[in-house]
Amino acid sequence: MKKRIYLASPHMSGREMDFVQEAFDTNWIAPLGKNVDLFEKEIAQRVDRKYAAALVSGTAAIHLGLKWLGVGQGDLVFCSSLTFSGSCNSVMYEKAIPVFIDSEYESWNISPAALEKAFEWAKKNNKMPKAVITVNLYGQACDYDAVCEICDRHHTPILEDAAESLGAKYKNRPTGSFGKLSALSFNGNKIITTSGGGMLLSNDENAIKKAKFWATQARDNAPHYLHSELGYNYRLSNVSAGIGRGQLTALEERVAQKKAIYDRYKEAFKDIDDIEMMPVPKWSQPNFWLSCMTLKEKSRLSPMDIINKLAENNVEARPIWKPMHTQPYYSDYEFFTSKNDGELSIGEDIFNRGLCLPSDTKMTTEELDYVIGLVKELF
Ligand SMILES: *Cc1c(COP(=O)(O)O)cnc(C)c1O
Repeated sequence: MKKRIYLASPHMSGREMDFVQEAFDTNWIAPLGKNVDLFEKEIAQRVDRKYAAALVSGTAAIHLGLKWLGVGQGDLVFCSSLTFSGSCNSVMYEKAIPVFIDSEYESWNISPAALEKAFEWAKKNNKMPKAVITVNLYGQACDYDAVCEICDRHHTPILEDAAESLGAKYKNRPTGSFGKLSALSFNGNKIITTSGGGMLLSNDENAIKKAKFWATQARDNAPHYLHSELGYNYRLSNVSAGIGRGQLTALEERVAQKKAIYDRYKEAFKDIDDIEMMPVPKWSQPNFWLSCMTLKEKSRLSPMDIINKLAENNVEARPIWKPMHTQPYYSDYEFFTSKNDGELSIGEDIFNRGLCLPSDTKMTTEELDYVIGLVKELF
């Protein structure tokens, strides 16, 4: 059996152990320590934010971000539907009500037209959302000029879920710098990893101070253990942060490698009429975290035909995220689309016709060509 080819797996730079060793040598095997402080500083600098809190996951970052925005029981939160459940699960942790927004074809991200519809509905019902969660899917920014204009006009803050998009830009501005707050993930499959981790970022010092307070069990300033608020154990360990610092030194290189993978797929499939690669709008400079494609409607093949063929040859590919409004757990919540009643939503259409191709930066050129060959054999 050939060596397995992965969708996206951890890729060490070789510098991680130096930072981890330092944590061991100084016995800072704890949440907090020099690596945590510097990792926060280095990431904040990278995405043009003033303040950052390193946390155990991207989900924890979104959770504390929503809490800072005052999201609580019965509040509405708008969220892009075509995403991973980590984007919206925190809405449920706070017993708030998610309202899902469809995508646009141009970027696969939140549709300004659908978002506007949702705001009109909210206004009519006299209940505005407390926050809008935007997602930068597969490492591509949403159309922030349009989305920010709408949210500003309706006085609703944005929480940017940049879990998949570290290193990507929107009109030369780094993702992770949009909205009142933004969340990053360093889960094992993301472009850089701490083996599990996340970060909440903001230019509001109080937001990050409060997030750190909640993340360390909400201990009040007293010699004994005094709690006037509910706390969480959400801080990233100093060992994990060491891995993150080593990983961050390779971010630029990883983005270039991911782009090269996408470009090679695009070139290889340009003569296959059935295949379209995920579009990249003019304003977008993705990190190409995952190279995704769709099959044209008329294709005799389905995404699962390609995924299965690759799986038979020990190559990992995946379907597109299944839109949240079609998930059994979330199916009762409101959903807004720019499409007409009775028409298939854009998110469902992309899900039905799309898949994520192997985008592992450890793939050799030969392995990538092998994957391309397997896909081409089907046509
Ligand atoms: C990975 C991911 C998250 C959650 O991050 P974790 O670190 O796994 O908790 C949230 N949103 C999106 C879009 C993600 O891809």
